[in-house]
Amino acid sequence: MDSINARCQVCKTIFELDAQQQKFVASLIAKGQRFIMVECPSCGSSTQYIKAEEAVEDSRQVANYRCPITQCTGWVDLIDEKTRPFWGCGECGSLWYEEKNLQKEITSIVALHPYRAHSYEQLNGKWVPAVLSSEPENYEALVEQEPADDHDALVRG
Ligand SMILES: [Zn+2]
Ligand SMILES: [Zn+2]
Repeated sequence: MDSINARCQVCKTIFELDAQQQKFVASLIAKGQRFIMVECPSCGSSTQYIKAEEAVEDSRQVANYRCPITQCTGWVDLIDEKTRPFWGCGECGSLWYEEKNLQKEITSIVALHPYRAHSYEQLNGKWVPAVLSSEPENYEALVEQEPADDHDALVRG
């Protein structure tokens, strides 16, 4: 087998599987199992083993933020317009010209709805997108149930 690294979903450490874990994972992969739990040597948690190719897929996806707008399950992309780049959500149409305002909005939605916190991680005092697999499975259902808020401006600052 070629991919022997896993990333702990709890402490985010990337670790190499030990010989016993490699054997265990290889035998399950051979049986066609995709969801495999291994123990993280750094924090002791059970974490899902993710194949290297899938981890690459994951890190491509994490370039986008979950939209921090109430009831919106969309994604916020950096739109690199020559004149004025902005952060925009294709689903609800919200946009941010200042990254700090997007950051502020993430802080408020996370404070309001704790399950939203799984979509982001703190890195050097800043919110960054978390891996998709850390979100609750019913994330979209939870977000769709959120009570409407009173800001409806598309330009969020
Ligand atoms: Zn860990
Ligand atoms: Zn949105």
